[in-house]
Amino acid sequence: MENKKIFVTMSSMPPYDEYIDAIKPLWDSHWLTNMGKYHQELEEKLKNYLDVPELSLMVNGHMALEMIIQAFEFPKGSEIITTPFTFISTTHAIVRNHLKPVFCDVKMSDGTIDETKLEDLITENTVAILPVHVYGNVCNVKEIQTIADKYRLKVIYDAAHAFGVKYAGNGIGNYGDASVFSFHATKIFNTIEGGAVAFFSPEIREKLYNLKNFGIRGEELVVDIGANAKMNEFAAIMGLCNLKYIDLVLEERKKRYTFYKENLNSVRGIKLFDSNINVEPNYAYFPILIKEDYRVNRDELQDSLKKYGIYSRKYFYPLTSDQACFKNKYKKCKLENARKLAKQVLVIPLYDSLEKSIIYQILKIITGSK
Ligand SMILES: *Cc1c(COP(=O)(O)O)cnc(C)c1O
Repeated sequence: MENKKIFVTMSSMPPYDEYIDAIKPLWDSHWLTNMGKYHQELEEKLKNYLDVPELSLMVNGHMALEMIIQAFEFPKGSEIITTPFTFISTTHAIVRNHLKPVFCDVKMSDGTIDETKLEDLITENTVAILPVHVYGNVCNVKEIQTIADKYRLKVIYDAAHAFGVKYAGNGIGNYGDASVFSFHATKIFNTIEGGAVAFFSPEIREKLYNLKNFGIRGEELVVDIGANAKMNEFAAIMGLCNLKYIDLVLEERKKRYTFYKENLNSVRGIKLFDSNINVEPNYAYFPILIKEDYRVNRDELQDSLKKYGIYSRKYFYPLTSDQACFKNKYKKCKLENARKLAKQVLVIPLYDSLEKSIIYQILKIITGSK
């Protein structure tokens, strides 16, 4: 028991035989990638599941972000207002497109971008807002859209954490101009590596198709300077298999999430993010905030969990704006809340097969009875 390591997540996998049976046809067709049958089937099924008008599958979430930013053809050096309280991919995708990230603070209540601070950061060079539905917490999509409309800005959501989340009864990918999902092995729905962009317009559909496949449009025709960001057939089949179990996975996560919440709600010095109103959550992560009146600091709690083989993560510390590659390079507002959250946050293990005994153990360590 002592030496079994418990990580913050565990990748969902379908029954072995089911995947093996599902990939068998590939040995007949030898069609392994290039928008094959399974790529098309998964694209269609996910479009339905996520309840979005258009979807383009990608090789991973990061390339999905890069491709959709590129698709909008913003002038080089333009500014995109974004959050530093995220995975490094969000900021990389902006900078790798030769654009400038402008860092906006977040809200203490749920860690999403503080929409009241956006307008102060808008300049004549601003072209877009790139917020993150961090932990699946939904940004203030209405207010962000109002501001975007007023200044004619695009809105691209990093929805990597928000697979299956609904807001006001709609799939979360229906907000802004586009939303990016990640199907990485560590996310709640995975295709081993994978991702997708949800969007609206047929022009974006054509553009993304070009960008993910070298701009090739015929045996002798290349119309755009595309990259290679296609999802292969093995990944698509993994997705088709996993998708059959996603509702079960969410149900199991919900049980564990609810149990954690009931037990941690009133622990002195521990704060949880507020639940969003009008949101159907996906129970993707369980972040807790370690306040000053907790008996030890955040890092000490992480260490005591580690002593029992339980590996929590400081998602997201440091802020992306403070990373060596970005530090002091870009404009930002005072990132007071983002800094506080980065210092306090700890994401504890949560996944569909997490044993109850481990959850008890984690709770005991956090409440100090162990
Ligand atoms: C996982 C993640 C990404 C990148 O997705 P990959 O599929 O790993 O490339 C981007 N943004 C956020 C917030 C993520 O958590």
